Amino acid sequence: MAKSWAMFSMARTADEIVLRTFPRQPVGWDGVMGRLSVILIEGLFVFRTYIISRSITSRSVFLAEKTFSCCLSPEALYFPSKKRLGAPMEQRKKYYVLAFYCFTPIENPHEEVAKHHEFFKTRDICSRIYISYQGINAQMSAEESHAKEYMDWMRQDSRFANIDFKIHFADEQVFPRATVKFRQQLVALDHDANPVEGGDHVSASEWKKMLEQKDPDTILLDVRNDYEWKVGHFEGAIKPKLDIFRKFPEYAKQLSDQYDAKKTKVMMYCTGGIRCELYSALMKKVGFEQVYQLDGGVIKYGLEEGQSHWKGKLFVFDDRLAVPISPKEDSEVISVCHHCGAPSDIYYNCANMDCNELFTCCPSCADQYKGCCQESCAHAERLRPYEKTEKPKPFRKWYHYENVKTQ
Ligand SMILES: [Zn+2]
Ligand SMILES: [Zn+2]
Repeated sequence: MAKSWAMFSMARTADEIVLRTFPRQPVGWDGVMGRLSVILIEGLFVFRTYIISRSITSRSVFLAEKTFSCCLSPEALYFPSKKRLGAPMEQRKKYYVLAFYCFTPIENPHEEVAKHHEFFKTRDICSRIYISYQGINAQMSAEESHAKEYMDWMRQDSRFANIDFKIHFADEQVFPRATVKFRQQLVALDHDANPVEGGDHVSASEWKKMLEQKDPDTILLDVRNDYEWKVGHFEGAIKPKLDIFRKFPEYAKQLSDQYDAKKTKVMMYCTGGIRCELYSALMKKVGFEQVYQLDGGVIKYGLEEGQSHWKGKLFVFDDRLAVPISPKEDSEVISVCHHCGAPSDIYYNCANMDCNELFTCCPSCADQYKGCCQESCAHAERLRPYEKTEKPKPFRKWYHYENVKTQ
């Protein structure tokens, strides 16, 4: 099956695309899956894309359309030559992946949302940003110059002047679109918690020292979800057995019954730090006197202190899913395939849309079970087409299917 359409630009996600300058002169990138080809048909700006895979699915077509239609600016064009194709990396755009939050009174969050939309309109930025009356919580990816413009733009506003932007790099957008929304709560919690009453902020280097000098009266508390914990966490950390983090206040109460709240030191950490701001306040509320929170979360720790005392990778809520906490070091795989037990930290979400379980799976079991978490799911009625890939992007799947009606 083949499908073609005309586009006014060319995708920059080289991973997914084989470019051909002319039909008879195929040129490709190393390691490319060869699912799509792009052919220059007319002039400089008109291209035609062909899907050439035999196993093409309508979902891939949709993905391709999204990829192509989001890069309409002339500078997004990429003209391959044989010389360049030998070294594709430097041709790719560099993307900043930013994570930050800021508690500050925002009088009119809806207006702030609108200002963001306006700013993003002309720039190559994808995001998941929530703005409330209490502040902003953001993750985004943006082309390098646009990321810098955004940070400057934010810092011009006195409310946001001191934001600590944590920066990773990627070679493509890691969010499906630019989402900026108003939210009543920045962190889901059915409880009043004031970050001002939270635990002491501890810098990455201090945190490392504290880990090294940790005594038996110290508890190291991971306040993330199970699926985050599974692919990586600090050595010796305890993980609340909670399905829903809204129940954290109850858990904090249990801990205060279990430990001597006066004597016990509590070290808390989460991905980027925002969750600890509120949860540490709850820990103090139930009586713990010595509560410390890792400033900037695991992201900042990894950037500043590397992998020391961390096992595995860091789960992130974007296409990358699991990343080494230090860009300079390789990390071990500590999670296993849900089916066969082989080491794997690749997340899939079950192809059965009525299940959607997020699970780690090795590529061969993913193949065998057609992307499902169990045999029965593979026979379910509403199945997403399974697409063999080394780099599944479950968050994108949720996005593409979130509007599918459930039965
Ligand atoms: Zn397996
Ligand atoms: Zn399932």
